[in-house]
Parts: sequence; structure tokens; C-alpha cells
Amino acid sequence: MSTKVCVLGAGGRMGQSVIRAVSERDDATLVGAVDRLAGPALGKDCGRLLGLDAMGITVADSLDAAITAGVVVIDFSAPDALISALPAVQATGAALVTGTTGLSPEQLTRLEAAAADVPILRADNFSVGVVLMRLLARRAAELLGASADVEIIEAHHRRKVDAPSGTALAVGHSVAAGLGVELDANADWSRHGQVGARGTGRIGFSVIRGGDIVGEHTALFAMDGERLEITHRATDRMIFARGAVRAAAWLAEQSPGFYTLEDMLG
Ligand code: NAD
Repeated sequence: MSTKVCVLGAGGRMGQSVIRAVSERDDATLVGAVDRLAGPALGKDCGRLLGLDAMGITVADSLDAAITAGVVVIDFSAPDALISALPAVQATGAALVTGTTGLSPEQLTRLEAAAADVPILRADNFSVGVVLMRLLARRAAELLGASADVEIIEAHHRRKVDAPSGTALAVGHSVAAGLGVELDANADWSRHGQVGARGTGRIGFSVIRGGDIVGEHTALFAMDGERLEITHRATDRMIFARGAVRAAAWLAEQSPGFYTLEDMLG
């Protein structure tokens, strides 16, 4: 059976990659595309936006006409846009795959509450490599404990608006779990000026922004005389888009609930 997909944030970098990823698969069909009212994509055909043949789906300014039960909304937009979309998703009984990052704790709670009514899968990063990186970082933290100083370094393109990236935070949570501590109580989010010597057990973050970097993450375990680095480099955002479409096909078969990529991968 073909998975019916509606893309929220269809005019964006990820939205367009998702439209391309849907068009690559025989078992997925684009049924809707939505972007903000004043966006340059509004009213345009999704195929033409990608430089392909017309797909017969134009970008609308609201989910209301675009979704019904059985449709999976794939969202890569912005936190406010995601939260505004939830009533329509809940009212229609559609499902939701979301990769939008930078949600506040309140927004995350609102998203999780909506999962009582509909299936929702959220991932800060849809690449399988990052799932593995998190497992490795957690295991390294468990084994090395206080003998290593952990630093998480991430780099992204100049247009990214949230920092550290959702993936860096997710890796940080994995490291914290390996150390048996809470991330928020042990993170050094930035350093500037006379900050003093590094504290034992701290998890430091460094953020690089520039050019067209798709996404790079390193978990650095620095010890005396040696260091271990676990690095993931994304060179093509299609890996995220294909992962999200795969997640949509899986989510279409699930009951209401809040899911992660790890649930899908078993
Ligand atoms: P982008 O700025 O290129 O695209 C965002 C799109 O959302 C734009 O077209 C914008 O007009 C649209 N939008 C904004 N507000 C809207 C609203 N109220 N209603 C409808 N559409 C709205 O950004 P991007 O690089 O495509 O990233 C989008 C999000 O996805 C970011 O949060 C980013 O961090 C995240 N992301 C996640 C992953 C992952 O694997 N989870 C990978 C890459 C990016």
C-alpha cells in the first residue's frame, strides 16, 4: 500500500529534499504540500520547485485542505509552525513525522500530548549513522567515566537558527546517560572570558556556523596522553529526507503514541 505524504515546510531545504525522496519511492505518494503564507514557494507546483516535471500538487498555506485520516505529515519547518499544525493533525487522525529542531520544553510537552490521539515520530536526526553514533558515545562514556573530558562539537550551514543542534543535544543526552547524570545540570553550553579551569564531569559544547555545511558532529573524549573522537559527517541532506519517508511508511501502520527512530529500527 502506498503511504500518502503531506510535506509541511515544503519550500525549505529539507521540505524539498523530502518531496524528492517521496518521488524516488514506488510505495509513497505526495498528496499535499504546505508552507507559510508569505513564502516564495506558495502556489507553486512541487515538481517544478525541484526542476522536475509537474507533480500536480501545489504548495498551500494551510494543512486543513491537504490532510485526511491515513495521511502522514512530514514536518521540517519551524517550532511554531509545528505546534500550530497539531490541531489539524489531531482533528483528522493523520500521523506526523517531525524533524524540526529547537523546540522549547513546553512545545515538546505539547507535541507529546498530541501523541495520545495520533501516531507521532520525532527525531533530531534521521540518519542511521547518528543513531549508531549515539550508541557508541553512550558506551564510551560508560567505559571511560570520569577519566575523560567530553566535548561535543557541531558544525552547520550559515542559515541554521538553533544552537547547539538537536543532534548535538541528543548526543549530549546519550553521553550523560552513559555517565549516569542529567545533561542540563552538567553541560557547559559556551565559554568566554575568565571561565576558570575545566570542571570534572562537565559536558562541553562548541558550535560552528558557516557556508553550506550539511551537518557534522563529534563526541570528543579527551584523556591524558590520548583522545578518542567519534565523528559523523552528513554530506547530503537526502539521507535525512529518505530516513523521514521511511519513518512515514512505518508510522502509517502504528497506533497513536510517541515514537523515536530507535522504535522504528527495533
Ligand atoms: P528551511 O528554513 O530551509 O525551511 C523551513 C521551511 O519551513 C521554510 O520553507 C519556511 O517558509 C517554512 N515555514 C516556516 N514557518 C512556517 C509556518 N508557520 N507554516 C508553514 N511553513 C513554515 O530550514 P531547513 O534547513 O529545511 O530545516 C527545517 C528544520 O528541520 C529545522 O528545524 C532544522 O534544524 C531541521 N532539520 C532536521 C533534520 C533531522 O534529521 N531531524 C535535518 C535537517 C534539518
